[in-house]
Amino acid sequence: MLRGMCTVAFSLALVLLNVSVKEVCCFGSQGNCLPTSNKCTVSDIKDARFTYDEDSCHGPENWYKVHSCWYLCEEDRGSRQSPIDIETEEATTDKSLTFSFSDVCTRVDAEYRNCGSGHSPHFEVKGSNNKKIYLSDVPNTPPNTKYVLDNVHIHVGQEEDEGSEHSIDDTFWPMEAHMVFYDSKFPSLGLANSLVAMMVMIEIDGSPVAPDVEATQDCDVRFASHLDFLMRTHFGNSDEYSFFEDDSDDCTFYDEECVKPKCEGGEHLKISPSDVLPSDWSFYSYRGSLTSPGCNEIVEWIALKCPIKVSSVAFNALRNIPVNGGSTLQTHGTRRPIQSNELPIQKNFDKEKTRQHPCPK
Ligand SMILES: [Zn+2]
Repeated sequence: MLRGMCTVAFSLALVLLNVSVKEVCCFGSQGNCLPTSNKCTVSDIKDARFTYDEDSCHGPENWYKVHSCWYLCEEDRGSRQSPIDIETEEATTDKSLTFSFSDVCTRVDAEYRNCGSGHSPHFEVKGSNNKKIYLSDVPNTPPNTKYVLDNVHIHVGQEEDEGSEHSIDDTFWPMEAHMVFYDSKFPSLGLANSLVAMMVMIEIDGSPVAPDVEATQDCDVRFASHLDFLMRTHFGNSDEYSFFEDDSDDCTFYDEECVKPKCEGGEHLKISPSDVLPSDWSFYSYRGSLTSPGCNEIVEWIALKCPIKVSSVAFNALRNIPVNGGSTLQTHGTRRPIQSNELPIQKNFDKEKTRQHPCPK
């Protein structure tokens, strides 16, 4: 995700880290050494590119080499890197943990944004003059801090049954939805230094091989009908877009000379967190990072205990979104590998359900 957590918008969340960075370059056939002012501002990293291709010079193992501002992506460099395996037996229970929405049942105006970059396309909430959705009372955040919903996006994998970034007790799901919120004291996601990411695992309706772990056995897996509609409608029409400004045969995504991804967007839609949330709002939380460059350790993660499900048509529409150069999202997936740091995890439930989905179906 968190373009960044997962597409460009998220990688632009590199804000004045006030660190000393040294010049590093991505070596290899696709490598280039990007100029940097060492300030890690939005303008400093605007030309940096990353991919989920594990064999690429720009892949997850090498993100830290692409730009010096992405140093936290280096293995064992950071202290709270995401994604992680959520070991449910290790989570400590605190039933006072909660979160609150300003208005979770009303959908707000948004746009479909797809840059053909091999990153997750976004359902991006529209800016200034439109109604916003605020999240507050988030664990481990300062009192009275409100977070604004910026976008919803969904991660997917090369393998059908391993598309989530996080895992629960070493089990992956076909997809993982992220709802990304930024501290409302800042004017935009790209300038914020504090984010909240809510993640929801997604299953495929009717699939004979649904993930089966004890931690989710008592879940009533809700069919997310509006999210399913948005995925079928917008992901399914992505092949109508023309991604190339110059589509001559010898262009590749990383040839800055000839290819600048055009972020197709503007398709109007309406979305609400309620379209993504499961029936049961029990959750785990931990302090982590962006799962895309620059891997900034500024994210409070809320991981919903229970999954939702969408249709196989919606799932395949996501996997088959075209990527510059002729592949599709499923070619490399859109997931950062699990990070090895063992982070303390809290949960707000014991056995019983905590809060039920409040919106009409
Ligand atoms: Zn994401």
